[in-house]
Amino acid sequence: MKIKVGDEVVVVSGKDKEKRGKVIQKIPKESKLVVEGVNIIKRHIRPTRRGQESGIVEREAPIFSSKVTLICPRCGKTTRIGVRVLRKSPREQEKLRFCKKCGEVID
Ligand SMILES: [Zn+2]
Repeated sequence: MKIKVGDEVVVVSGKDKEKRGKVIQKIPKESKLVVEGVNIIKRHIRPTRRGQESGIVEREAPIFSSKVTLICPRCGKTTRIGVRVLRKSPREQEKLRFCKKCGEVID
């Protein structure tokens, strides 16, 4: 998965289409992401102790990473991420993400 926590993304399909938000959690095993304000589910909370109030809690549920696209922090457009490998020394290399629209390095 090329998207990282803290990236700003936009939803491209489903009920939250065109919603934007920051990635707050990654679940690589399921290829899912939790995005701030996206895919909100309501959970009913029952009081577990006396005097505690019951109520409804809203929270984000994970969505498939294939349903979101990165918004480039440099040019502000939705984009695909490219990866460049930077060779620092014969044994050390670093992967850098870049925007395929403006060509700027994202990290
Ligand atoms: Zn860009």
